[in-house]
Amino acid sequence: MTPSTDLNIPLFERAKALIPGGVNSPVRAFKAVGGTPRFVKRAQGAYFWDANDQRFIDYIGSWGPMILGHGHPAVLEAVQKAALEGFSFGAPTEREVELAEEILSLVPSMEMIRLVSSGTEAGMSAIRLARGATGRSKFIKFEGCYHGHADSLLVKAGSGLATFGNATSAGVPPEVVQHTLVLEYNNVAQLEEAFALHGKELACVMIEPIAGNMNFVRASVPFMKRCRELCTEYGALLVLDEVMTGFRVALGSAQSVYAKSIPGFKPDITVLGKVIGGGMPLAAFGGPRAIMEHLAPLGGVYQAGTLSGNPVATACGLTTLREIKKPGFFDALSASTRSLVHGLAQAAKEEGVPFSADCEGGMFGFFLLPELPQNYPAVLKTDSARFNQLFHGLLDRGVYIAPALYEAGFVSGAHTADDIAATVAAAREVFKTL
Ligand SMILES: *Cc1c(COP(=O)(O)O)cnc(C)c1O
Repeated sequence: MTPSTDLNIPLFERAKALIPGGVNSPVRAFKAVGGTPRFVKRAQGAYFWDANDQRFIDYIGSWGPMILGHGHPAVLEAVQKAALEGFSFGAPTEREVELAEEILSLVPSMEMIRLVSSGTEAGMSAIRLARGATGRSKFIKFEGCYHGHADSLLVKAGSGLATFGNATSAGVPPEVVQHTLVLEYNNVAQLEEAFALHGKELACVMIEPIAGNMNFVRASVPFMKRCRELCTEYGALLVLDEVMTGFRVALGSAQSVYAKSIPGFKPDITVLGKVIGGGMPLAAFGGPRAIMEHLAPLGGVYQAGTLSGNPVATACGLTTLREIKKPGFFDALSASTRSLVHGLAQAAKEEGVPFSADCEGGMFGFFLLPELPQNYPAVLKTDSARFNQLFHGLLDRGVYIAPALYEAGFVSGAHTADDIAATVAAAREVFKTL
């Protein structure tokens, strides 16, 4: 398509005049990969159509929520019915209770749950709850993990274990991040050292069990086991940020995957978002009763929201969860994701492109690296120019992956074997040019 006929371009110009960078969330701007973002007109199943009515096979799915694909009939019906009954009441509804029951029955580490409107809000509230419940201020997070954009979480590592973090965003005062310790992901020795130094002052350790915000990097089983053991030993809470992995990597979420290798494994607080809203603004955090009862109105930890437990969003989320728990859904989703990852790896190998990939349930990641990275510095070794070539090559062939190499990918229940085969064929063509 020549620039003069690409209808995304004038839209982007209009957007840039009014909205900083033309987008309402930075990664959408294609800054990392260059070019013009696709403005989405509509979506159905595994596809969306842009301003030019060009069709794309969608491997972002709104960055994870669209696990059933777009416009699933049961979800559409539930949302339409809920909308007719009212958009928002600011008063309790039965559907919030039903959603809480559904989530808690699938993720038994939680006995109580609080619904909020975004993953950022859930992560921020989980930290406040951990601090309120333990009476401690400090906490650990890991480099490359993203937990939303709350001030105390926008932090990179300091110059050593004795120093706390530095803000990664302007507008975050150093005082606000002085209690945030940032460690390397999957580094057991460093974790042990940090606990030896600060363990008794730590409110929590917050971690993405499978980090989806540095592409796709699993916490190793020994690392996750040590996180759990050290938190228990020092009276800190283990906060699992499952905003991305929750109901995405398995019906029991990532914690059920780790429980297979670490008997009895459970976090103290679970943070959820994305899939539980099925594409509507809905997120949550939950844990054992004794911890959750610290929340207002029962306890002293304040937390509130005008739109929390929104009746249309809960209808969307509840129906989504009821669909994905139908027998066979996750097996089929996992099989599609695996076939995509194996197909890409095979094509890369045949075309002589260094490549490694991993997946769990409906979430995947791949790297233009010979071996899977274990932490953020290793992810950074990816040749970004080569990734950008791959991204644009796929885009030109109607395949939409994340416009940055630090993002995971998502397969939905609507992706067919033909979609996967078309994707692998497109990737093979691009690999030949790399
Ligand atoms: C997306 C995400 C968040 C933030 O959720 P928002 O709804 O975008 O605020 C937090 N944690 C993780 C792991 C995420 O992937």
